[in-house]
Amino acid sequence: MKREDIYCNLRKYSSIHLGTMSVFLIYLLIQALIEDTMQIGRGSLITAAILLFVDIVCEMSCLWEKRVPWTIVRAGELSVFTFYFFEKGISCCLVFYIAACVITVLELFYAFDITDVRNRNIVLVGAAVPALITILINIARSGIHSQNLFGMVCAYGVLLFMTGRIAEAMGEQITGYEENLFEQKRMAEFTKETNRALYEQQEKVKRTNEELGLQKIKLEEANQKINNVNSEMMIQNIIMKYISTSLEINTLMKYITESVLESSGLNLCAIVLKPGAVENETSIYEIRTRLKEDANRLLEEYISSNYLDSYIESKEIFVDNYIKDGVYPFIRNNEVCSLMILPLVNQGTAMGAILCGHGAYDYFEDNCSFYETIVSQFLIALNNANLYAKMQQMAHKDSMTGLYNRGHLNYMVDRCSKEAVEQNKVLSIALFDIDHFKKINDTYGHLLGDAVIKEISRLASKVAKTYDGIAGRYGGEEFVLVLPGRSKMEAKKIIEELREQINEIQIPYEDGVVTTRISAGLSCYPETCTRINELLRRADTAMYESKDSGGDAVTIDSKE
Ligand code: GH3
Ligand code: MG
Ligand code: MG
Repeated sequence: MKREDIYCNLRKYSSIHLGTMSVFLIYLLIQALIEDTMQIGRGSLITAAILLFVDIVCEMSCLWEKRVPWTIVRAGELSVFTFYFFEKGISCCLVFYIAACVITVLELFYAFDITDVRNRNIVLVGAAVPALITILINIARSGIHSQNLFGMVCAYGVLLFMTGRIAEAMGEQITGYEENLFEQKRMAEFTKETNRALYEQQEKVKRTNEELGLQKIKLEEANQKINNVNSEMMIQNIIMKYISTSLEINTLMKYITESVLESSGLNLCAIVLKPGAVENETSIYEIRTRLKEDANRLLEEYISSNYLDSYIESKEIFVDNYIKDGVYPFIRNNEVCSLMILPLVNQGTAMGAILCGHGAYDYFEDNCSFYETIVSQFLIALNNANLYAKMQQMAHKDSMTGLYNRGHLNYMVDRCSKEAVEQNKVLSIALFDIDHFKKINDTYGHLLGDAVIKEISRLASKVAKTYDGIAGRYGGEEFVLVLPGRSKMEAKKIIEELREQINEIQIPYEDGVVTTRISAGLSCYPETCTRINELLRRADTAMYESKDSGGDAVTIDSKE
């Protein structure tokens, strides 16, 4: 039992003790008033008053906090009560003495820890001491056979025994209660401990969750970046595929703008090529947008009127990530918020530009390199196309005159023939040869001969272009003019026009000029020749007829 609990119980019992003593004193006073003082004993009254006084003094002082003085006072009181118990015999006061004895003994039990068996036995033995002393005094005074002594001893013994049993029961109850309390406290501690552990676990889980959340965000960002890179690589792959499979720059422009717009989330992608970028005489462009119809038209208007020329000539990438309404005449209603213009610069020459637009602000920041790669790829495509065109030219055209060579001319004749048959159209072919060219060579030299050939070629090319025909150099000083969709009469007129122009050629030589003439033969499908494969041969035959008739003439193939 704890010290504080002992004092708490003592305080409780000492108040009962005090109450009992007070009631007893009042009883004695009443007795003294209504009966003879001498009869109840002056000594009892004085003793009770003194004991009450001592109790009150002790109660009010801090003496009660200490066990030794308390025990002495209580032992003294017990002795007094015991003495009176035996002295007075059976009387009304006896009840008070019994009550006082029981309370005092219980107080002593509490003072010496009622839960401890050894202490209880000591108190019990101690409590018997005043009785023994009183008995001995009584025996000495009145002898062993004094009246009531035996009965009083038995009564006191029973009283002590009962008090001891009560103390024992109380001690066990307190022990049980204390054990229970201890168990509860232990359980409470355990619960508290478990709760704390749980709380710590909870905190840990919370922290881990937070970390996981952060990790998730980071992973999502990384994922987004990977996705972006993937789609960028995908676009680049597609573009590379187009570049490797097609040399047609218009088709490439269409594919590139389409795939960039589809895969990158742009709402505007356009490619503009200046004249000459790929042997184009005027600028060419391809525009793909997700803009409204009128915005699309507006953009086309500006691009076709060379609005981007200053950006192209600057040769620098232009980025505006915060487009204010009205700054660019080709952008309206805030449909495009970020704009980038990437000039196409090949070996220092600005050839055009790629125009990219996005509906969000600050779009072109760390993704510029992707668009620069597209520019590089497109420039490779441009170079390839130009190289291919040059190669084609070398393979198909005669280097001196720029006209189609015989090989390609045959191919073109075949193609036009097929088309004429399939589409049921007319086709005329004229073949012409320079008259007495050997003589020109011999007289004025081969260089002048070459000049004559070049001039005739230039005129033939011009006429072919005017009448949607094809001009070619068939051999040395022999030429062919293919006129798809031209009837015999139309073709005759055209070849006569060419002959007249050739007749006007004047190549300066020394102080004078050199002129030249041609002999031409014309064959027309199906008017003069129904077997289309024979067109060229029959034109040749007709040409010889012109030669035979003296040259400087056009002969139409005579119908079979
Ligand atoms: P004809 O009126 O019957 O056609 O007589 P011709 O002299 O024109 O014909 P011929 O076949 O006898 O001579 C053609 C000449 O053209 C022979 C050749 O040296 C010359 N020739 C062919 N190709 C070229 C060329 O590229 N440059 C020059 N300078 N001469 C060429
Ligand atoms: Mg000739
Ligand atoms: Mg000839």
